[in-house]
Amino acid sequence: MRDYEIIIGLEIHVQLQTRTKIFCVCKNEFQAEPNTNTCPVCLGMPGALPVLNKKAVELACRFILAVGGDINNNSLFARKNYFYPDLPKGYQISQHERPLGKSGTIRIETEDGMKEIMLQGIHLEEDAGKSFHLEDSSNIDFNRCGTPLLEIVTMPVIKNAHEAYLLLYRIRQLVQYLEISSGDMEKGALRCDANVSVRPQGQHEYGIRTEVKNMNSIRGVERALSYEISRQINLLEEGGFVVQETRLWDESMGRTDTMRTKEESPDYRYFPEPDLLALELEDDWLEEIKETIPELPLEKRDRFVREYKIPPYDAGVLTITPQLANYFEETARLCGNPKQASNWIMTEIMKIMKDRQISPDELNIPPKNVADLIKSIENGTISGKIAKEIVAEMAASGKAPGEIIEAHGLEQITDKKVIEQAVEQVFRENPENLKRYFDGQDKLFGYFVGQVMIKTEGKANPHLVNEILKDKLDGR
Ligand SMILES: [Zn+2]
Repeated sequence: MRDYEIIIGLEIHVQLQTRTKIFCVCKNEFQAEPNTNTCPVCLGMPGALPVLNKKAVELACRFILAVGGDINNNSLFARKNYFYPDLPKGYQISQHERPLGKSGTIRIETEDGMKEIMLQGIHLEEDAGKSFHLEDSSNIDFNRCGTPLLEIVTMPVIKNAHEAYLLLYRIRQLVQYLEISSGDMEKGALRCDANVSVRPQGQHEYGIRTEVKNMNSIRGVERALSYEISRQINLLEEGGFVVQETRLWDESMGRTDTMRTKEESPDYRYFPEPDLLALELEDDWLEEIKETIPELPLEKRDRFVREYKIPPYDAGVLTITPQLANYFEETARLCGNPKQASNWIMTEIMKIMKDRQISPDELNIPPKNVADLIKSIENGTISGKIAKEIVAEMAASGKAPGEIIEAHGLEQITDKKVIEQAVEQVFRENPENLKRYFDGQDKLFGYFVGQVMIKTEGKANPHLVNEILKDKLDGR
């Protein structure tokens, strides 16, 4: 088999979190009762006129500025003409010749290090409605019609399916940090179409590309692209050729199938939208938007490593979402021990959130409770082992650790007399093992430690247990 070069470009749509739709005042809530958030504008009634939503422009600009793109101070909306049952106007208002943004880069971390994915264009457009095909009828919900979308098109510089995965992951993280979208791919707030082609290594001209659609998770994109790449290479290896077409990813079957042969751009008959003025933006306003850009994921991660002296891997995990990053910083600040805060959050706390599929904001354990738990371990009130049980109780009841420790009498036993009594009792109950220990079976020391811990219901301070056992055994 020959070596192949893979070329992938992504077209990503992000639903912007505005209160109202992009060209009318209907609520931007398409999960409401079907066809309740509609009006003459988004239903495409003759004579209804669009009015641009300033917030949608602001959110789009925030993204473009955050990725270092150039904003066009004078962009144009254009009509993209095509027929689709869920597009009542018969055209989509989009941008074509003079889009809002161009260039900019998004950084991903591949196995070969940091890679910058260059963006070709970023523009605003409206979403279409949604069709539902039931057994004996087709239904259309126009709630989504007119939802503001940000379309991000990358240069064809993605070299494999995993890079596409990493890029989408980063875009989801970025839109969440920038608070412009939920980025939830399962719910359609983030969508991705991919152009894929392959060519034998060294061949000058590009291979014929296909467009792959219908992936609804970031992992799904990786799987679909892996499949499509193999399909194209196999075709070429068998002496066949790739047909330019749109293919749908079938997640359950794990394959792509022909949907339609691909339209070319001229088929859309783009022309400037006559009902909207050119979009002129003032530099002062763009400066104001720039001010609203928060610390972004990679910068935050680097700062965590620097400031809290935690490993880059941990910092990467803790900055997955801005909510988790805030949760960590608050816990670290309150307990004064970032390493412990990181350990507890990355293990016990994240496990609870994962099991319940919730975000830190929805968790009934505030950072203060995690910080108090860490302090209780540090000052010797409880052991680390008991602390894990307390976390489970904190998650179940929402109670503070202090309350749980008191209610269940979980304080660590640090009273030497009490531990000595337990040790003596263990010796009395295990005369044979004691004899074997003195006969040279040193390994039994661990057995005695375990027995004392059982006697004290795991509450004895392990350090003291060791110390006392050693004293007593040496002294016999
Ligand atoms: Zn409307």
